[in-house]
Amino acid sequence: MTDECGLSSTPIGGVDGKLFVRDQADIPEILKCLLFGKKPDRVVIARSRDEVVSTVRYAFEHEIPIVPRGGATSPYGGVMPVKGGIVLDLSHLSSVMDINVEKGTARVEAGVRWAQLNERLPDGLTMYTYPTSWFSTVGGWIATGGYGIHSLRYGHLSTLVDALEVVDGTGNVRWIHNGDEGFSHHFGTEGQMGIVLSAVLKVGHVPSSKLDLLLFDSPRGALEKASELARRKDVLHIVMLEEGRMHEMNVLLGEDLLPERCALLVESEEGIEDVPKAQPWQASYVWGQRFFPLKPKKLGPGLLASEILCPMDVAPEYIERAHSLARGYGVSISTEVHVMGKDLALVVPTFITNKRRTLPYMTHLSLVLALTQEGVAIGGRPYGIGTWNTPYAKKAFTREEWNALKQYKHEIDPKGILNPGKFFSLATRVPLLEQLMGSRLVRGSRLIAPLLGSPQHEEKPDVVRDAYESCTHCGACVSVCPAVALLGDERLSPRAKLFYARMLREEGKLDAEEGSRLMLCLHCGQCEKVCQAGLNLKAVWEKLEEELSGYPMPTEDIERLTRLVESEESYRKLADGGMLHG
Ligand SMILES: Cc1cc2nc3c(=O)[nH]c(=O)nc-3n(C[C@H](O)[C@H](O)[C@H](O)COP(=O)(O)OP(=O)(O)OC[C@H]3O[C@@H](n4cnc5c(N)ncnc54)[C@H](O)[C@@H]3O)c2cc1C
Ligand code: SF4
Ligand code: SF4
Repeated sequence: MTDECGLSSTPIGGVDGKLFVRDQADIPEILKCLLFGKKPDRVVIARSRDEVVSTVRYAFEHEIPIVPRGGATSPYGGVMPVKGGIVLDLSHLSSVMDINVEKGTARVEAGVRWAQLNERLPDGLTMYTYPTSWFSTVGGWIATGGYGIHSLRYGHLSTLVDALEVVDGTGNVRWIHNGDEGFSHHFGTEGQMGIVLSAVLKVGHVPSSKLDLLLFDSPRGALEKASELARRKDVLHIVMLEEGRMHEMNVLLGEDLLPERCALLVESEEGIEDVPKAQPWQASYVWGQRFFPLKPKKLGPGLLASEILCPMDVAPEYIERAHSLARGYGVSISTEVHVMGKDLALVVPTFITNKRRTLPYMTHLSLVLALTQEGVAIGGRPYGIGTWNTPYAKKAFTREEWNALKQYKHEIDPKGILNPGKFFSLATRVPLLEQLMGSRLVRGSRLIAPLLGSPQHEEKPDVVRDAYESCTHCGACVSVCPAVALLGDERLSPRAKLFYARMLREEGKLDAEEGSRLMLCLHCGQCEKVCQAGLNLKAVWEKLEEELSGYPMPTEDIERLTRLVESEESYRKLADGGMLHG
């Protein structure tokens, strides 16, 4: 639909208002309303690069905030329009434009997903690094973290990108090459420095490798070994999982199949021989689970985490402090450590909570802030900023880096329309909130947390409610659903269907269009295969259809979708999305 401004936008209301304004961060609506209270004025789903440019030019001319959105898989509220304006969805810019085998490069549009690129690379060629959110977009990962699988061996994403095509805050398109001044400012600044339109990525050959799951008595011992192994040339990837993480996997498996000890998963060319280790199939299982880090959420339902980048030698002390801090809240945490460089660790303390119980959940959110503060105090920095870590953003950079970023921002976005109200400073309607979040006062809630009881849930709700409450909003299902891929509407996605399900159950009614979106499903089960929360989605869709029996079935749309799925062109498109081989 084209609106009065000439932008092709989606009207905001109902599920659209919820779907396009949030990411994976699980913050109660009431809290977001209280702190920000702003909704986007419109959502623009860009179908072409020209549409991105014209939208930014329009926003520049009228000084309207513009919030880029990729797969909405990040956990820091970066896609939240805290000052209203336009949410610009880039996930449909999904063309793999060129693969140059000789040069070892791939030029892709910003909305291409990592799984899709992997499918398109010819035999033997692969990405040097990728996030475990395989389903997130290239533009989104450039704009955020940039550390993932094989970072230890091949370095940060910024070293593996040759060039970026970016729309600046005035609507001008520019190419920035690796080595140019300002190139690095586009990584990890979450849409502040321009909208990535396309990128030229380095691709190549990653050697074949072996997996070992080494067993230790404590994180300290495991991390000492990790530091030693990180110096070996043949090692590609190392991750440490504390005993609690291994226990959660067993609970999810329903059997004690994995050793419940502190484990170090090592991917290397030569293999590791000098340490007690688990069975090879156990190592393979844990490796396969790297794509499902949020699965334990269904045990709550609720999973919270903090992510701290810090020197390797600081990591053991941070883990000990994190445990002690969490104990003060009556919470038990378990930690993962991803080794990102010879001396660089990404420490992720996680804990299971129950978001059905609002008050304890709120105190647990403050524990996340406290864990981040503790990480910063010990010499680390938050991995992502978005909205929720804005109070700690300065700590993520040196003073010179911070000033350089501000200067660059001013040049590239003179009217400050790109993703405003976060990263540099928080636009909240609560006075002094940013200072409060940055201060130790957030720890005050630990005094009441233990009194509020255990986070585990007591009742077992039915399959539908369990699904919408356990959904992690990760977006993995969005990238594999044929309805989204072929009809180009994210409101048909499993993630959106669960929003509709919640509305149906909690608000009592959907209109005919919303009901038909919920029923527009092929029951192919692709969503269930990739679901981060391990939800029984096929059963959910069947149950919902029963509940919607009074609504007209969108038979024609289902038949059209079926014909599309069967057409050769569509088959190719779906295969590109990684779905048919996923
Ligand atoms: C299961 C799971 C595993 C994950 N694993 C990893 C991991 O291994 N490593 C890691 O770093 N992260 C990981 N993440 C976090 C997240 O997936 C990454 O940050 C991700 O790459 C973000 O991409 P996205 O397309 O979802 O971006 P979004 O969440 O949509 O956006 C993130 C930020 O980038 C901005 N943005 C988005 N697209 C553009 C663009 N084209 N131009 C400019 N700005 C843009 C947005 O405004 C926002 O501020 C994981 C998340 C999940 C759910
Ligand atoms: S089962 Fe339905 S919702 Fe899930 S991927 Fe298939 S079409 Fe999409
Ligand atoms: S339904 Fe599953 S895959 Fe989809 S957003 Fe929710 S948790 Fe993620």
